[in-house]
Amino acid sequence: MKGSRLLKSSWPVIVVGAGPAGALCAYSLARAGLSVLLLEKACFPREKPCGGGLTPKAAALLPFSFQAVVDGEVKRAILRLPGVKTLEIGWGRPVCFLVRRELLDTYLAEQARRAGAFLREGEEVVQIEETGEALTVITAGGASYRAQLVIGADGALSRVARLVGRSLPRRFALTAAITPPPAWSEKRDTILIDLEALPYGYGWVFPKAGHLNAGVGSFAAARELRFHWENFARRNGLGRPLRLRAHPLALAGEETELGRGRVMLLGDAAGLVDPLTGEGLYAAFCSAQLAAKAILEEGVGERAVPRYRELVKASLGREYHFAHRLARLFYRFLPLIARYFSSRPEQVRHFWEFLFFGGYAELFRRAGARYWEKLLRGPSS
Ligand SMILES: Cc1cc2nc3c(=O)[nH]c(=O)nc-3n(C[C@H](O)[C@H](O)[C@H](O)COP(=O)(O)OP(=O)(O)OC[C@H]3O[C@@H](n4cnc5c(N)ncnc54)[C@H](O)[C@@H]3O)c2cc1C
Repeated sequence: MKGSRLLKSSWPVIVVGAGPAGALCAYSLARAGLSVLLLEKACFPREKPCGGGLTPKAAALLPFSFQAVVDGEVKRAILRLPGVKTLEIGWGRPVCFLVRRELLDTYLAEQARRAGAFLREGEEVVQIEETGEALTVITAGGASYRAQLVIGADGALSRVARLVGRSLPRRFALTAAITPPPAWSEKRDTILIDLEALPYGYGWVFPKAGHLNAGVGSFAAARELRFHWENFARRNGLGRPLRLRAHPLALAGEETELGRGRVMLLGDAAGLVDPLTGEGLYAAFCSAQLAAKAILEEGVGERAVPRYRELVKASLGREYHFAHRLARLFYRFLPLIARYFSSRPEQVRHFWEFLFFGGYAELFRRAGARYWEKLLRGPSS
């Protein structure tokens, strides 16, 4: 039986971190018949500070159903834009799934285990050493395992990434669990996005079973996140948080690092969070699938790493090339864009759909330069 296999000391692939990126990569490799050790420092179910908004484009990358862990489906959004009235927009279909990360992540890790990956919980990786043609992974408990290839999927503060020279993220988000105030208790399919909450960022409220997940995140190195959080909570009548936690946002950009030698980095460990929306689950799943593809094409060894880099460049890299341009325009010219959007809810709906279903490259291709010119000229055009 899979669960009772004896733990070997030598593995073709060791995945460090069983979050969304690590669990999905281990799942894909194990399904293809590779022997994979998945080391996770926490024990499931464990918390991860996150809004738990799962976009349809991210969900489409999961090769199995995840309905069992969906708390709700978003069909309406309240959008607070600076200087203009609040917009309420609706869709006839779900535009985002709401999940609790403790449930989603437990479920994903279980899928990896069922596919044949050897999952070890409570095993924190503290060191990786090069030993000839292999790597030795050492855990806090003193265990050591040899691997041909190590996949760092250990999140924004990744130890594996630091071992290959990636710097730590400089952007942060604050998230809280809140008992729903009466005004929110009926709004299970409605989210709030508040672009007035702080400069170069936004505040959100996502309803979950039994509580609201609310937070503020900044795409600039914002100080005083707590101050912005308090204003945001007061303005939106959110009351006192049950738990308030800060966590780094591993934004894509100059801090992105996909790996070196026999080490690959995925998801937050690679610094792949969307620079406009802060969405990270899509990149976690996408990088997991691309890493598995590179390994299955090139074998378990150094050649898989450049292949992975190539694959990421052609997909996520292309997307983020546009995302960065759009993020710069969007936050810099937000008051103008807000004025344009305020009288065109249909445009907001389309913009949202591109972000959550399609992607940036598609948005730029379809919309063309004239759209952006019009957008920036404002409502008089
Ligand atoms: C406040 C906040 C809100 C967010 N909201 C959203 C959202 O609504 N939608 C969205 O798409 N994205 C959101 N994100 C981003 C998203 O949470 C991340 O991009 C996503 O979790 C990345 O997945 P991952 O698997 O790369 O890393 P993680 O989810 O961080 O998983 C890493 C795993 O590695 C384990 N680990 C860490 N160190 C070690 C070690 N040394 N040894 C072994 N295991 C280790 C951890 O315990 C963890 O299980 C949000 C981020 C923040 C901070």
